[in-house]
Amino acid sequence: MPELPEVETVRRGLACVMEGACIVRVEARRPDLRQPLPPDFARRLEGQTITGVGRRAKYLTADLASGDVLLMHLGMSGSFRVSHKNVKTRPGEFHHARSAAEAHDHVVFHLSSGATVTFNDPRRFGLMLIVPRRDLASHPLMREVGPEPLGNAFDANLLAGACANKKTSLKAALLDQTVVAGVGNIYACEVLHRSRLSPKRRASTIATRSGAPNARALALVDAIKAVLSDAIKAGGSSLRDHRQTNGELGYFQHCFRVYDREGEPCVTPRCRGTVKRIVQNGRSTFFCPVCQK
Ligand SMILES: [Zn+2]
Repeated sequence: MPELPEVETVRRGLACVMEGACIVRVEARRPDLRQPLPPDFARRLEGQTITGVGRRAKYLTADLASGDVLLMHLGMSGSFRVSHKNVKTRPGEFHHARSAAEAHDHVVFHLSSGATVTFNDPRRFGLMLIVPRRDLASHPLMREVGPEPLGNAFDANLLAGACANKKTSLKAALLDQTVVAGVGNIYACEVLHRSRLSPKRRASTIATRSGAPNARALALVDAIKAVLSDAIKAGGSSLRDHRQTNGELGYFQHCFRVYDREGEPCVTPRCRGTVKRIVQNGRSTFFCPVCQK
């Protein structure tokens, strides 16, 4: 499943095509993705100018001049293709393969610039809804979403406060979208390795009894911001050369420190550990038992 850096990379790829353009025509080739498309889907989009393309957690938002927001989620297998003046691009690169089969092209946006933006989703866990901007923050999908990890409000105080009473593992806390938005399995593993904290550690151990952050919370917040920023930067740089975008291999996997590296040596300087894989809450966790405490 795409995580925050991939979604942010997609946002940047869509923003440069969609912002300022008018949606001339919408082809909804089936009535539903994960949920039914709104019954008046095309009518509420056609003729509208897109004033901005944003992101909240792993959701993409396209603001329309009408005051509506087109809320989109890539689900497990969703991706966008942009076609403009015979140049085809696929914003974002992912750790998993993406489908190019036209049978899975479910929604096509035709823009006033002549560009088309196509949403392809073989497994159809993706989502497209239209929500008035004023109702977005209180929408059932949005109201429980925790702070943006790269936002200024997200700091060690906030993270320690959210973890102070948690009896779950630290890994599980990082995956909890109410604690921090957009961190998935891959980046949770990477963040814990960078901060040298064990994924098995109890989440509450990053806070003092009163809920204040300790040194572990500070290290964790630094690692979250650094890992996600690096991944976005790597994705951003790949956007500049579309010819290398084959959609098969993820860009950041070449930089993974622990994820998918079971049995390989730990990359922490002077650590002689070997990356181990365990299963937590049904998901693989990769970590170094020597330098992550
Ligand atoms: Zn190590």
